[in-house]
Amino acid sequence: MDPLDRITESSLKFAQASRKAWANGDDEICNEMLSTHVNFLIDELMGFIPKETRKCKVCHCTELHPCPEGCYWVGAELCSSCA
Ligand SMILES: [Zn+2]
Ligand SMILES: [Zn+2]
Repeated sequence: MDPLDRITESSLKFAQASRKAWANGDDEICNEMLSTHVNFLIDELMGFIPKETRKCKVCHCTELHPCPEGCYWVGAELCSSCA
């Protein structure tokens, strides 16, 4: 599926579900859904950023210049060496 379609679909689902939870007064569920959705969005959006500009915020390694021992992404801006 196209990433944009995935984002749209997930956002619609989230909007419906959170509205329902909100109406029921389930603040906690609502917050939880929000953070799950935000994480999903960050992951998806990171896919749009050219690989060479993604950078670890701790050691500043990149996809093209990873840490000497090798690393992978564990967060939007965090590599496995610094996790
Ligand atoms: Zn790092
Ligand atoms: Zn690294």
